Amino acid sequence: MKKKIAVLKGDGIGPEVVDCGIEVLNKIEEISNVEFEYNFAKVGGDAIDNYDDPFPRETEEICKSSDAILLGAVGGKKWDEIESEKRPEKGLLRLRKSLEVYANLRPCKIYDSLKDNSPLKPEYIKDVDIVIVRELMGGIYFGKRDTLIENGIKTAYDEERYNEVEIERIARYAFEMSRLRRKKVTLVDKANVLDSSKLWREVVQKVAAEYSDVELDFMYVDNAAMQLVRNPSSFDCILTNNIFGDILSDEASQISGSIGLLPSASLGEKLGLYEPIHGSAPDIAGKNLANPLATILSCAMMLRYSFKMEREALIIERAVEEVLEEGFRTFDLDSENYLGTKEITREVIKRIK
Ligand code: ATP
Ligand code: MG
Repeated sequence: MKKKIAVLKGDGIGPEVVDCGIEVLNKIEEISNVEFEYNFAKVGGDAIDNYDDPFPRETEEICKSSDAILLGAVGGKKWDEIESEKRPEKGLLRLRKSLEVYANLRPCKIYDSLKDNSPLKPEYIKDVDIVIVRELMGGIYFGKRDTLIENGIKTAYDEERYNEVEIERIARYAFEMSRLRRKKVTLVDKANVLDSSKLWREVVQKVAAEYSDVELDFMYVDNAAMQLVRNPSSFDCILTNNIFGDILSDEASQISGSIGLLPSASLGEKLGLYEPIHGSAPDIAGKNLANPLATILSCAMMLRYSFKMEREALIIERAVEEVLEEGFRTFDLDSENYLGTKEITREVIKRIK
């Protein structure tokens, strides 16, 4: 089996952590019958410097002719002064849009061995294993917006708008996902106030009828924000819209202890895009200090969702867990006693068999 992977290293620590991901994938080739072909392309600041465009045509073509995409991170001070349409982050939005990835999955787990790194009290974080399923292509970030003068007063608005089709497809993702997990979906919304949320409830309930083996419950977003820090183990799959998902997934990421641990997948009908949730971390770039585990775990998600290689995905996840259990740490987890980016990757690879 041959799989083509578009590799967009991007900026800052992007190249370092992506190289670690590739080394892990190379090791997977050795233990299974898959062959990976890597096609490198530029995105973000790296692409601006070379093409004067954060998401050049060539990159789009390489992505679209691949089976999956591995991305590092984009952005940095160097490009801060650039006008908004040409900024590195804009490249990322255009990439997601062009791939039509409407489902953003962010798993959040608290490893037993890292309980001390979580800001939450130990009694709150027993058995935390959550995945947030965030709608990525609709809602207020893509709605009508304007700034105008109304009765002499400067006024601005942003429109939250969803249709049944958009809600149904993301709901299906969440239910399918929950079947691979603990079979519970929590729809997070603000249905006591918003019409769009009422439509979400209506459509999600309809979809739920086809998944009678999955438990569905509803929670207002303000309550969900509280429960995430008080009782995070009560969640399995959180299904939510674009803006609530954006906010809650950052909140969820913090309870795990470090941003350097958390992977993500953005999925649609066709291609999957895999990237760590952290940014380009210019403060530590090029110093062999970055935590590559989020990227390595993003590669595991790629194997699981794009290539249906569940066994190999679990092998990578287990190897990462073992490395942490055995006490190996990166700089973000223990600034006194740590391994470098490359060295911890070597430890992970040693445990892939
Ligand atoms: P972006 O806007 O691209 O999301 P950001 O400004 O939100 O970027 P990050 O680049 O994610 O932030 O960095 C935030 C902090 O977390 C920085 O101090 C950075 O060094 C640290 N950090 C981020 N990723 C990692 C990592 N993989 N390993 C170690 N530290 C990290
Ligand atoms: Mg950020």
